[in-house]
Amino acid sequence: MKKRYPCLFCLSFDNPFTSEEHILPRGLGNVLKILPPGIVCDRCNNGELARLDEILTNFDPIKFLRVFHGIENRDGKVPASKHINVDMAMINPGHLNVLLKSNKSDYFQEHEKGFTLSVVGGHKLTNAYIKKLLRAFYKMGLEVVYGDLGARTAHAKRFDEIRRIVLGNCDFSGSLAVVKHPDLEQIARIRHHVIPMKGRKVSFFDFYYYGVEILYGMEVREIGDDENLLTGKVDIISASKCK
Ligand SMILES: [Zn+2]
Repeated sequence: MKKRYPCLFCLSFDNPFTSEEHILPRGLGNVLKILPPGIVCDRCNNGELARLDEILTNFDPIKFLRVFHGIENRDGKVPASKHINVDMAMINPGHLNVLLKSNKSDYFQEHEKGFTLSVVGGHKLTNAYIKKLLRAFYKMGLEVVYGDLGARTAHAKRFDEIRRIVLGNCDFSGSLAVVKHPDLEQIARIRHHVIPMKGRKVSFFDFYYYGVEILYGMEVREIGDDENLLTGKVDIISASKCK
């Protein structure tokens, strides 16, 4: 019997479809949000999508939180995280080893209720780097649309541009809103909302990772800080089209 839908990303029937696809990268501790084999071809899954997962798990705020909360990767290990000024490793559960590589006092300050540690990220937020991050988030987004609304919607033409963007085949602009909530639930989750935005109904996403919330859209990719769906203190990270 012929497959009804091609690969969700490259729209080809030509490659094998033997692997399941993790919507949240496995390295982030995800075992639940999975698309079964048959939806994403092995070529996309093991190629471009694997590279995008790696970019996401190495994004400094996420890398830091993984170690801080002891989140195990696919091998059952908590990976160490190296940053510009700090190396961190979980020696055993609940025991975090922090190596400060600089004695600059503003990185580490003790106070009555504990301490404040400032971690300096290793990646400059260049246009090229933000684009890679955005593509990693769009990859998750399209897979969530598939999981929530089914193959027909996820294969609709309105997501064709997103497919090309995820695979790195076209230039684009877009932004992420990053919100830090100390009171946010300590979980990893991606949520999908269909909301009216800029005069149309679009898919919009909240990605939560242990107290950091990242919001983005795919059909409307630019977010302004005047957007009424944003609450609290928000940093907008944007990438623009190449000139
Ligand atoms: Zn494919």
